[in-house]
Amino acid sequence: MTQLFRRNRAAEPVPAPSPVTVQSTGEVCKVAGCSNDTAQPCSYRDGRGRACRAVCCPDHGASTDGKFYCRRHAGVLRAVGAQATPQGGLPDIDNRAPSLVNWIARDLDTNVRRLLTGAAKTGESVIADDTVHVARDFNRKARWEQSWRLVDHTGVILKVTIQVLEENDSLVRVHVGSGVIADGVPPWIARRTEDSDVTTDAAQRQRFYQWLDESIFMAVDRFRTERERLR
Ligand SMILES: [Zn+2]
Ligand SMILES: [Zn+2]
Repeated sequence: MTQLFRRNRAAEPVPAPSPVTVQSTGEVCKVAGCSNDTAQPCSYRDGRGRACRAVCCPDHGASTDGKFYCRRHAGVLRAVGAQATPQGGLPDIDNRAPSLVNWIARDLDTNVRRLLTGAAKTGESVIADDTVHVARDFNRKARWEQSWRLVDHTGVILKVTIQVLEENDSLVRVHVGSGVIADGVPPWIARRTEDSDVTTDAAQRQRFYQWLDESIFMAVDRFRTERERLR
């Protein structure tokens, strides 16, 4: 299923299976419909010390820094950055918030950069997070975020953030400046329990991204108009 979400990512290198994992391990992949006997356990350990129980073949996982992970946790490591372990350890084994933020941020990246660059004045520039960061509210509840910032030498002028709360890891919120300008559950998560064909799925996904793109466009445009008016 995961490859369906890969939009506009032709440039991304497909992780090559390492030579060691091509040989039979005597373990059959546990992904439904796969009978490869080259499966290995996922190496993921979350911040509470819990291990992932997935056992899968190289086609259904990926190696990072010499360790093998199931596809889901390879995505989590990519989201948080393979080198940096967040404070409190890696996200809970069953939490999809970090990967979801990262998927969406990567898909919106080109457009958001273009919008912010278009709103920039002389001496201002756009900087973007490469990975997802955890932030906590006063109740220690975690939220996962990835941002783009329009900055000048004094600091942040406008910030666009994709955010998913750990306790509600289906709902995506987009902040521009101080307000939430869009929130919604991505269609591929909402319809997980329903039957739908791949064509419908792709169209829905496209509409969802289009809606996010347009919402961000309007918010940045409002910011820019307001700024011109105050000049
Ligand atoms: Zn497999
Ligand atoms: Zn795993």
